[in-house]
Amino acid sequence: MAILAPMPIATLVRRMLRELDAKESIFDLPTRKFVRGDPSHDYSVRFHSHVAATPFGPAAGPNTQLAQNIVLAWLAGGRILELKTVQLNDRLTIPRPCIDMQTVGYNVEWSQELTLEESLEEYVKAAMLIRILEASGQLALAPGFERTVFDMSVGYDLAGIRSERVQAFIAGMMDATAVVERLRRALPKELGPLRDLDFVTRLSDTLTLSTFHGCPPHEIEQIVEFLMRERHLACVVKLNPTLLGATALQALLTDALGYADLRVPGDAFAKDTQWEQAAAFMDRLDGTARALDLDVGVKLTNTLIVENHRHVFPKTEPAMYLSGAPLHVLAMHLLRRVRRTFGDRFPISFSAGIERANFPDAVALGLVPVTACTDLLQPGGYGRPLGYFDELKKRMDVVGAASVNEFIVRAYGADGPTELAAAKIRNTDLYVERATGDPRYAAATRRKVPRKIGRQLKLFDCLTCDKCIPVCPNDANFTFAMPSTPEVPLSEARQIGNFADLCNDCGNCDTFCPEDGGPYRLKPRFFVSSERWLADAPRDAILVERDAITGRFDGVEVRVTDETDAADGPYVPILRQLRDALLAPTEINYVNQSLVQ
Ligand code: SF4
Ligand code: SF4
Repeated sequence: MAILAPMPIATLVRRMLRELDAKESIFDLPTRKFVRGDPSHDYSVRFHSHVAATPFGPAAGPNTQLAQNIVLAWLAGGRILELKTVQLNDRLTIPRPCIDMQTVGYNVEWSQELTLEESLEEYVKAAMLIRILEASGQLALAPGFERTVFDMSVGYDLAGIRSERVQAFIAGMMDATAVVERLRRALPKELGPLRDLDFVTRLSDTLTLSTFHGCPPHEIEQIVEFLMRERHLACVVKLNPTLLGATALQALLTDALGYADLRVPGDAFAKDTQWEQAAAFMDRLDGTARALDLDVGVKLTNTLIVENHRHVFPKTEPAMYLSGAPLHVLAMHLLRRVRRTFGDRFPISFSAGIERANFPDAVALGLVPVTACTDLLQPGGYGRPLGYFDELKKRMDVVGAASVNEFIVRAYGADGPTELAAAKIRNTDLYVERATGDPRYAAATRRKVPRKIGRQLKLFDCLTCDKCIPVCPNDANFTFAMPSTPEVPLSEARQIGNFADLCNDCGNCDTFCPEDGGPYRLKPRFFVSSERWLADAPRDAILVERDAITGRFDGVEVRVTDETDAADGPYVPILRQLRDALLAPTEINYVNQSLVQ
């Protein structure tokens, strides 16, 4: 059905703590992949008026939509959490699949798929779950490593942002007392004193602005003025890579990087803000921010609009949005331009092709936050940022830096400027040249697609490689033990299931599954709400309830209760075995945790 159904806080908190206890993982992320900080390396940075324990965070996108995604990003060391963009039009129909990670990274997904009210609740839930984890004392975080900033992301035009509902969302993020208290009452009794924690109620007072491709520059300026003056929010303006101009951008993309197949629609440059316009409004906005004792920054960059020339998204989509490796180089060139014009005057947030190899460089350039999205959708998912921190630590050790500021000054050699602002500018110049010539960003390196073995997925049994679990941005896929029996003979001890309430058909697990057909389509799809299971018809899906399990297979419904006779059809033993397997006390998944009283 592709509509996300957020999990109740009680289900999430139970699953989180039980899974940690029994399986040493949280939402399928093993504890060995957690980033817990390190007393000998201070990764902390300033972001607006806040201190965050690391400069890392997930970019507003599929990874910051649901509460469990946000918790996962936090466990992976994200301490500046850019929440998925919300907007007035919160009933979007998104084409599916919407994510194409076969090569460099494209998407046609957009803002929050939840309503504004649900989004607010998800973000509050995430903050409460994080607070519970911290207070549980089970994570053994380094001192101060809990310091986290929630950054709102709001779009897309002035009328929408001024609307009552978007304003209510912003007000709710700035004072979430009512939602916190409502959710507190829903916390399970067995949490004991953790129910009485001092949950954060001022969830956010910073905002990253996302505007439409083609939003007039005066409107961007008016929105930021409005948010600073009326809401006293520190703001970041997300800029488009088209600011490089058509000639420079195409020269980089085609000549320097070799992406000859990518075409930016001709009108994208003319419609978007021009460099001179952006530079002028940033200059004026900076004046306003200073007068209001706030600060304003820029984010580099938005995705790049390109023609839909591949075969993943529906042909009805004329355009798609490029991320990943090529965007990294484009965004770095734009960064150099910003710095050459403004020096270190603006805080700069960065999101474009961040991965293990370049994370330390982005930190060395003084970018805050350094956010990732495309890389988190690759195999390993939220387990990948641990490698970012390992790499950063190594690079800091090489130059004897114990803090981020020391690293900025020393990262590219001891002979450079010792003053922070000058070091950032010097590092930017050096890094942009290096990244442009680095083959890791070139088309020739990024052509390889994930391997397929030429076998069709079936309901049961597969390679059981488990790749589909961490690549899901919503944690919808899971594995469970199911014994082989004469009625349901199986060759694998563990099976893959899909919790359909959390699956939006984004398609990412299909990309990385070595078998054909897509786990989210062909593996057992489970619902725990009869209403949602019915609405999902005619797709095959299984409804699990306390006293029954009902399957829909090729349009035929089969309901199994304790009284159902096995002779009632071939699906009866399958359903019965599935139910026993999912609800076994040794399993911890969204199905069984949803059915706990
Ligand atoms: S299960 Fe697959 S299709 Fe569904 S949300 Fe996860 S990755 Fe996307
Ligand atoms: S469904 Fe595909 S990706 Fe998932 S475990 Fe099976 S073979 Fe691997």
